[in-house]
This record gives sequence, structure tokens and C-alpha cells, in this order.
Amino acid sequence: METHRTSTRRITGIQPTGHLQLGNLLAAVRPMVAGQHDVHTLAFIADQHALTVDHDPARLAGLTREAAAILLAAGLDPVRCVLFVQSQVPEHAVAHYLLESTATFGESRRMIQFREKAGGQESVRLSLLTYPVLMAADILLYAGVGQDVEVPVGEDQGQHLELVRALGRRFNRRYGLTFALPRGVQPGSGARIMDLAEPGRKMEKTNPATAGVVFVLDPPDVVRRKILRAVTDGDRVVAYDPVTRPGVSNLLDILGCVLGRSATGLAGEYQTYARLKADVADAVVAVLEPLQRRFADISGDPAELARVLAAGSERATALAGPMLAVAQQRMGLLPVAHADAR
Ligand code: AMP
Repeated sequence: METHRTSTRRITGIQPTGHLQLGNLLAAVRPMVAGQHDVHTLAFIADQHALTVDHDPARLAGLTREAAAILLAAGLDPVRCVLFVQSQVPEHAVAHYLLESTATFGESRRMIQFREKAGGQESVRLSLLTYPVLMAADILLYAGVGQDVEVPVGEDQGQHLELVRALGRRFNRRYGLTFALPRGVQPGSGARIMDLAEPGRKMEKTNPATAGVVFVLDPPDVVRRKILRAVTDGDRVVAYDPVTRPGVSNLLDILGCVLGRSATGLAGEYQTYARLKADVADAVVAVLEPLQRRFADISGDPAELARVLAAGSERATALAGPMLAVAQQRMGLLPVAHADAR
């Protein structure tokens, strides 16, 4: 791995459950790219997490490649960072089982996200219940003793990170000190990008109503249309207050994230919603257009993309493999022996 300013490892996973949207780009991808010189960055496409709900296999494969190409197009350097696809590092699935044998049914069932996603469904995949335990494997495999590991988590993932820490702690107590406990850190600016059509809910790549979701690969005219039609608030005053003015505050948050400025400071510079929307549209298109050009180049050479991902998997395996072997031995599983070894 290249040299970085600190020895901290930062781990981020992106689920290919839909096309990446502006919230992913501004709150997860761009901060990851900006931080890649300071910390050892491990970025993976969490394709196994996308199996927890009904999915289309061909679509999943396409979205996995697309997400990887977007990370590269956004400026992630695959030499400086370890960029890989989760399923291509089978250590994650093996460690998941070890940690399933550390976690309890009760604590998994209590996860708020599980209750929300499973609620009202007739049939729920078992993996939806155990998904936070796979998340623990994704992180703890890179968290050897003495390692400083940080995980950018939004509020909705806070409970899962607590579970990751609880499992690491329990494993250490039961089988001997094996894992460092990861720290949760606020991702990027901390802004939550809200849906443009429904500013009361988070912008999400899985929302079937797409009028309020700006996808990273939306053509510029579509991006402009979605932003110009964004729902704003009744009183026509441009002020930053996410509680009473969620629509306009969201536009200010987006502009603030894109320009690296404070949303409150920007509010004072606008008298009308129309002017603000026009500037947000210009700023977002200015970020997306060059990214989309690089994306077209990268995805135009699928063999090279596959090679970059294979190299990333090899590097992830070199880190995760020895960690997994230690955990397996600590649990009493025999190390793999070779038939010709005497
Ligand atoms: P996900 O789309 O759930 O796979 O999330 C990938 C990353 O993007 C996570 O770090 C999320 O917290 C972040 N993210 C997703 N949607 C938003 C949003 N609307 N606003 C801010 N961050 C987001």
C-alpha cells in the first residue's frame, strides 16, 4: 500500500442495490476520494449485502460494475486505495459464519433496520436478519490488534456499528484478543441529502419514485429538470432551517456540499428560490459532467475494469486472509493443511 499521513484504515462499503445517487456521491464517495491521501482507504462494493432482498441477478452484476466504475470516475485511485468487490474476497463470507457463531438471534432481531425492512413482509430472507453480522466481518477482517480502524456511518448505521463492536469485544473475551474495535466517524460534511420531491425522506437509490432522486449518471438535462422542480417551502424565504424549511434547506445543503461551503452562509446570498435552484443545478451538473465522461471511458473497457477489481481483491485477500486464519484457529478450527506436507 502507498504511504499515507496516518496509519488509520478507513473502510466504506457501497451496496449495489440501485444506481448511485447524489447523496451517495456527496456524503460517501467524494469524502472517500478526498481522504484517500490521509488514511488507508478500503472501499468495496457490497454485492452480498444486495442479496438480502429480492434481486435480479443480471441487474446486480451490472450495478456492481457500474458502482465500481463510478468510484474510479469520481477519482478513487486504485493503487492508493484497496478497491474490491466483497464477493471476490471469500474471506468475508467465511468470517461472517464465525461471527454468526458469536452473535445471538436476539440481538440481530432487535436491529431497527431489520424490523423496518422485514415489517409487513410475508417472506424475509434469513440474510436480512444476519446482514449486520456480515458487516461485522467486512470490518473486523481488517481490524487486527493495534490497528486504528474508522468506519464512516450515517445515523441509520449507528446501531449496526455498535453490534460490530459488541461482536469484536465478545470474540476477544471468549477466544483471546484478536480484533481492534472500529470507531464510527461522521461521513464527510455530515449532511443528509433529502429527496427533492419529498424533502422529509432521505434521497435513496432504491426509491421507485425517481422524480426527487438525482442519479449520478442522469443526463444533465434530467438533473436540471429534477432540481428546478424540487419541492420548496411555502413562505418564499431563503433561510436554512431543516425543520421548518426542509425543501430549501436541502438545496442549500446540496450546494454547500458541492462548493465546500456552509449551508447557512449560502442562505444569505439568495433572495429567490428560482436563483438558488438555478445555481444548485449548475453546480451539480458541473460535478457530474466530467465524472460521467470518465465513467464512459472506464466502462468502455470492461476487461481493464475487471483487472483493476481483481488486483484490488488480491490486495484485500492479502490483508483479510491472515486475519481470518487467526480467528479460525482461535475458535478451534484446524488450520488448512496441504496433502503433501510431511
Ligand atoms: P447506501 O446507499 O445505503 O449503500 O449508502 C452508501 C453510503 O452513502 C452510506 O455511507 C450512506 O450513509 C450514504 N448515503 C446514502 N444516501 C444518502 C443521503 N441521501 N444523504 C447522505 N448520505 C447518504
